[in-house]
Amino acid sequence: MIKKFIRKILGVKDERDPTQAHILGPEEHGIDPKLVSPNAIRLTQTLQEAGYKAFVVGGAVRDLLLGVKPKDFDIATDATPEQVKKLFRRAFIIGRRFQIVHVMFGQELLEVTTFRGAGSANAPKDEHGRVLRDNNFGPQHEDAARRDFTINAMYYDPATQTVLDYHGGIADIRDKTLRIIGMPEARYREDPVRMLRVVRFAAKLGFTIEPTTRAPIPVMAPLIDNVPAARVFDEMLKLLLSGHALACLKELRSAGLHHGLLPLLDVVLEQPIGMKFVTLALESTDARVKAGKGVSPGFLFASLLWHQVLEKWTAYRAAGESPIPALHLAADDVLDTQTENLALQRRIATDMRDIWAMQPRFERRAGRAPYKLLENPRFRAGYDFLLLRCESGELDKEIGEWWTAFYDAEAGERERLVTQANRPTPSGEKRKRPPRRSRNRSGGGEGASAAPANSAAGAGEE
Ligand code: ATP
Ligand code: MG
Repeated sequence: MIKKFIRKILGVKDERDPTQAHILGPEEHGIDPKLVSPNAIRLTQTLQEAGYKAFVVGGAVRDLLLGVKPKDFDIATDATPEQVKKLFRRAFIIGRRFQIVHVMFGQELLEVTTFRGAGSANAPKDEHGRVLRDNNFGPQHEDAARRDFTINAMYYDPATQTVLDYHGGIADIRDKTLRIIGMPEARYREDPVRMLRVVRFAAKLGFTIEPTTRAPIPVMAPLIDNVPAARVFDEMLKLLLSGHALACLKELRSAGLHHGLLPLLDVVLEQPIGMKFVTLALESTDARVKAGKGVSPGFLFASLLWHQVLEKWTAYRAAGESPIPALHLAADDVLDTQTENLALQRRIATDMRDIWAMQPRFERRAGRAPYKLLENPRFRAGYDFLLLRCESGELDKEIGEWWTAFYDAEAGERERLVTQANRPTPSGEKRKRPPRRSRNRSGGGEGASAAPANSAAGAGEE
């Protein structure tokens, strides 16, 4: 008793037997059964009636304990993937590195995993210790120990409404603490993506990262370079679309994890103008995600990398290249580096290039040019991007306001706006415009740069 009391004062976690779960009834855990997907209940029931163990597990239990409706439900069972597949009409075994079963109920997809065993000490690994495959099955307590964080290692049985907690997850949920299970160094070595997951969950849940969980991250961060780029990209996308992207990026920086994920992101974030732009872009992304609206990954990555493009664009122009080809050269450079590091999918890279390529065209407001731009199928994304540039102070606000008015206007009003935009000011010059692009628009916007402008933008719209 006294020992327990002293341990509590010192903040030392109770050392309990990790093979024994702490079992909590409905009054203790307080989960609202109405938040549990009826399909998850059906699925666990079917498995249990066939004689297997079956639980809701992972993020869904964590969210249920936090009173949040889970976005999806993962199921853990002692049935093998083949045994699971036999019980359901629409069930598919997927994955190589980590075999799981996808079970479909109408539109809802449930992921069923078989309990993983501790035997994975012998699992195949790469030369850095990263586990390449983990399909060793084992008892439930070993499965719990293989999970990443204490708050992600709880099992909920809808039939008995009990929660099984092997690693003190309930206490950590209540203390808002993110704690890795086992030895942090070893767990990050097995799977470096866990370091990114630490950041994402801490930011998304507003939890504090427990010090020993956090300590090795800056040192071990380079191990992420050995993870296949596609997997890092998936995790980055989850992070950026979590509705807490801004908090995640701040956390990535403070954990020393931003290097190599988005090369130069650290430099970008340190420049006041770049920081403002990225902050605005992420704020608007977070607001959209929270409002349940769609977010385009292309727009997001175009925003994150814009200041790299801008820097290179300026350099190419200073070297004598005309604006549009210079922009394409800059985009090529940035996309080449990113495709290597981030495995940017082609579709996303095309979206990014379209958004960037449209930018100089917003500065041409003479003749038919603005009407043509309005017809561009990606106009809306390009225009939203322009507004971010204005808001961040990179461009004169006037140009954004003009496009907003032009976009909203009736036909007659549009003619008036075009005339007004091209009317000389009392000082004899044309209307105020960002000084660095003024060369570009002289001659009514249909000058020497018009041909490359059209062909370049056209190329981006394929
Ligand atoms: P989200 O709300 O993002 O879906 P989640 O916790 O459900 O969060 P998933 O990626 O869906 O995350 O994974 C489901 C569960 O599988 C986790 O809760 C965790 O128990 C386990 N898990 C996932 N990835 C890892 C990993 N890299 N290492 C160890 N366990 C993992
Ligand atoms: Mg999940």
